[in-house]
Amino acid sequence: MSRVLHRSFKHAYPVAVSSSGCEIIDSEGKRYIDGSSGAAVSSLGHNHPEVVQAIKRQLEELAYAHTSFFSSAPAEALAEDLIAHAPPHFELSQFLSSGSEAVEAALKLARQYHLERGEASRRIFIARQHSYHGNTLGALAVSGRESARAPFQPLLMPVSRVSACYEYRDRDSRETQEEYAKRLAEELEAEILRQGPENVAAFIAETVVGATLGAVAAVPGYFKQVRAVCDRYGVLLILDEVMCGMGRTGTLYACEQEGISPDLITLAKGLGAGYVPLSALLVRAEIADCLRRGSGAFRHGQTFLGHPLACAGALAVQQIIRRDGWLENVRRQGERMQSRLRERLGDHPFVGDIRGRGLFWGIELVADRDSKAPFAADLALNALVKREAMSAGLLVYPMGGTVNGRQGDHILIAPPFIVDEKIVDAIVERLGHAIDVATNEVASKSGAR
Ligand code: PLP
Repeated sequence: MSRVLHRSFKHAYPVAVSSSGCEIIDSEGKRYIDGSSGAAVSSLGHNHPEVVQAIKRQLEELAYAHTSFFSSAPAEALAEDLIAHAPPHFELSQFLSSGSEAVEAALKLARQYHLERGEASRRIFIARQHSYHGNTLGALAVSGRESARAPFQPLLMPVSRVSACYEYRDRDSRETQEEYAKRLAEELEAEILRQGPENVAAFIAETVVGATLGAVAAVPGYFKQVRAVCDRYGVLLILDEVMCGMGRTGTLYACEQEGISPDLITLAKGLGAGYVPLSALLVRAEIADCLRRGSGAFRHGQTFLGHPLACAGALAVQQIIRRDGWLENVRRQGERMQSRLRERLGDHPFVGDIRGRGLFWGIELVADRDSKAPFAADLALNALVKREAMSAGLLVYPMGGTVNGRQGDHILIAPPFIVDEKIVDAIVERLGHAIDVATNEVASKSGAR
């Protein structure tokens, strides 16, 4: 019996023993194409020799030094590197270990900023439905994934919530994209006014919604309007790019494609690309300045802040991605992924929507394409697709609850940036097969046609 507290008591997990490029190999010798980079993590693929070397070198020099005593060369260099390529007006970055921790730090920094500006009443966070910001209590409180929140509801701080920008289901067919964006911006403004602008600290959103909806980008103009509403009321804009940032959507920061710059950005996953656990909070100059002139300290710290080993690994990852032009490959192979997915699944009777950017794609499964009705949640279609894909040697990232937190299924595809045409085609072929088998199984159980 395993002594690991696994995610599920009902499931036997194969044991991963090695990995290389776009593949993970288990203890039985079975090879899996990593079609989701885990959870959009392994952007540079597995076992890149230069990253391994950079980590080894750092380990031999300095593995750890507590940040209450020291800074370190890798933390300084990584911060320089991130800020040099960040959206305008960003100045500082704090390094933590997980996406959830970066979100916690963002919430606390937003609160402290308002406090130090003499606006102590600003304490309310506004977040969106169908969002995921992490599993620690603050990050879960702002998350809009009902299944993750439900057992812990009594422990979560109250958070005010507005609609996601989810065009496939929520844009009225008589509405243009522009009108839809305007409606959502007005909803945010109305919520700020309802709470009292003097009480609202920040609005938090994923620039491209990842796990909870499956690679859903906003309609054009949405984030420009959101930025304007936040500015009008002194509300900070936090963009959570833990999953969609660091090149996943074809630009280093997903918000570059929205033409706006937020106040705080959270990063993780692709930052260290799975070689190291690392996340970051990026801070805009005005906020840094306010604390510098005020209390002189961010009242938040953790033991593994700025871990030198993690920063050295992430710096190597980011330098290699830039040097070898992997973001260009994200855009090029992303185009191929899109056209191959549309060819193979565009007319599939149980595929409702195919959406995404770069190498970040979501496929929403439905029982009926016209009504967009989902399959019953207890059929667990997304889990069946995962099972079939794994048996065909493919890893994809499925999720349920797409429609309303309980019903609906989607599959997230997010392969390493180093994929070539052959791997993209193999991912689509194996995924197509898994979707065929799984949807046939649930359709025959539920009588869907
Ligand atoms: N924010 C987003 C957008 C995420 O997708 C995730 C994880 O999936 C998190 C935050 C939490 O990150 P972690 O699981 O590293 O705590």
